[in-house]
Amino acid sequence: MANGGPVKHGYPHLETVRAAVTALYKRLSYDTVHTFAASVAPADVAFCDTDDLYLGAQRVARELVRHFRLPDARMIVSFREMEHAASVELAAGPEYFIELNDRFRTHRRDIGAALAHEVMHVCLHRLDLSFPGTRDNEILTDTATTYLGAGWLLLDAYREDASSSQKLGYLTPEEFGYVLAKRSLVFGEDPATWFTSPQAYTAYTRGLAQAREDERQPPLTAAGWAGRRRYAKDRRHAQGRVVAAVPGSASASAGASYAFTPDGHGPLRVSFPCPTCHQRIRVPVRGRVRARCGLCRTVLECDT
Ligand SMILES: [Zn+2]
Ligand SMILES: [Zn+2]
Repeated sequence: MANGGPVKHGYPHLETVRAAVTALYKRLSYDTVHTFAASVAPADVAFCDTDDLYLGAQRVARELVRHFRLPDARMIVSFREMEHAASVELAAGPEYFIELNDRFRTHRRDIGAALAHEVMHVCLHRLDLSFPGTRDNEILTDTATTYLGAGWLLLDAYREDASSSQKLGYLTPEEFGYVLAKRSLVFGEDPATWFTSPQAYTAYTRGLAQAREDERQPPLTAAGWAGRRRYAKDRRHAQGRVVAAVPGSASASAGASYAFTPDGHGPLRVSFPCPTCHQRIRVPVRGRVRARCGLCRTVLECDT
């Protein structure tokens, strides 16, 4: 887990974050994802300065192991001087050695956040789910931690004041907010009251706005006027290509997430990402269509 440096903002990893959500649904299935409807409760991972450092860290680690359903896994937590915030040795188990940066000795309230990320590494290791490359794999880890209910801790560890800033994990604060919001929208959960950091709360509200944008992309009926107009123009263009028998998929406007494809000699079809899990959905272009995402089971009202 990374440590230090200036805090990046915005959505530089959005594509990988979305791929991570899709991968989670694919690997875990809809049913398993929905067993994580409750987040880690703040009281269960609270750690105050009067708690014994080692006993407290073990207790929080046990709570995260229980949350992520790793029944026989045992985390052995230690502290040492290191460049990174934390690391875990991914061995065969059932014992896993987690090392936390020495600074957590005096920043105990962020121990839960660091442990959540490291325990998720173990979880993904056991699921044999990984992305190629360290960067993408760390983004997968942060996204999975958050989508499955412990990432609010990581976002809450982001704090800024006039003289200093600190943040844990690889996602930007807004990206953590985005994944947390996508989770909130699926499970009807409101994490707003859990934040102790005002900057984390702001990042959550920004991420929530971004997540709601996913639900307003054409051909979804909730799309806004400008999006619908652009969609209609792209569709006319695609239909023209079908009539003229131009092979291949028709291009959509730059930045559009949908694409039109002629289906052999059949009718024109449009594909677009599911607003919940980002798996691509394909439906025929024929006006009002109700589709159901095969991966996350979201019912999608479309005007194609
Ligand atoms: Zn990591
Ligand atoms: Zn879906």
